[in-house]
Amino acid sequence: EAKQAGRGCFAYFSEELTIAVRKRIALEDRLRKAIEQRELRVFYQPQIDIASNRIIGAEALVRWQSPVDGLIAPVNFIPIAEETGLIIAIGEWVLRETCRQGRLWLAAGFSPLTLAVNVSPHQFRRCDISALVEKILAETGFPAGLLELELTESGLMDNQDKAVEVLNNLRSQGVRLAIDDFGTGYSSLAYLKRFPVDVLKIDKSFIDDIPHLQDDMEITATIIAMGHTLGFQVLAEGVETHVQLAFLREKGCDAYQGYFTSKPVPADEFTELLRAQQKE
Ligand code: C2E
Ligand code: MG
Ligand code: MG
Ligand code: MG
Repeated sequence: EAKQAGRGCFAYFSEELTIAVRKRIALEDRLRKAIEQRELRVFYQPQIDIASNRIIGAEALVRWQSPVDGLIAPVNFIPIAEETGLIIAIGEWVLRETCRQGRLWLAAGFSPLTLAVNVSPHQFRRCDISALVEKILAETGFPAGLLELELTESGLMDNQDKAVEVLNNLRSQGVRLAIDDFGTGYSSLAYLKRFPVDVLKIDKSFIDDIPHLQDDMEITATIIAMGHTLGFQVLAEGVETHVQLAFLREKGCDAYQGYFTSKPVPADEFTELLRAQQKE
């Protein structure tokens, strides 16, 4: 009897597994078509200078506008894109689209904005990112000094010598480099000294519970102080409240992004934010 039940269980799970695998393959297939059929969109979230309270840049965040399912968040397709390698095509498209849009904002006379683009670990390892950046900057005419690439600690750690070489190459083009989700990975001082980066982005998870969790407040204050000692700019992610912003200001944090100012918005809405700021 136990044996039979066991067998039943196995059959049940394997059926579940088959369904899961089929769903994945279907999603991969749809994503491939979505790229071809231009269903991807870039949204922009303002980055605010804490001292002046002004928009100094934006992070480019991809969305999938599916005619069937509506607007799909990156958490629902970036992981599969990363596993299947589709992230390389997506990443190239986001980079080109962001530089193209950045050039339009410059041409419209807005003060220069730093545009930050996420580079996934797979993309960093598998494609020649510095050659790609060079090509796209030349194509779009967007200035290298206004482009920032966001890398995660995990993407940099497994081959550190190679990573340093690629980062130096990007740096020599004038591109800025940021460590995304800082504090959630290895966060070792030794590697921070090795990697030629400009900005540390404090992960949202440390900001969320300010002012309720003393530990998170101390970690945040420490990252800011340590980052400054080592010559980095420090930006806090996921700022939602005035109290969080006041805490960051008191600790000398340079910049932030978060729903407190704005969610990521389409380019035309971002243009409106820039217009409003121009009138101030
Ligand atoms: P990330 O790079 O750490 O981006 C920050 C995420 O935090 C964004 O989520 C943003 O909308 C969200 N966020 C910012 N401020 C707040 C806030 O105040 N409250 C809350 N609740 N959330 C906030 P999003 O756009 O869903 O992106 C999620 C992740 O997907 C990104 O995390 C990044 O890892 C990845 N991603 C997005 N676009 C791209 C892309 O073009 N390429 C790659 N490789 N990854 C991307
Ligand atoms: Mg990011
Ligand atoms: Mg982040
Ligand atoms: Mg993240």
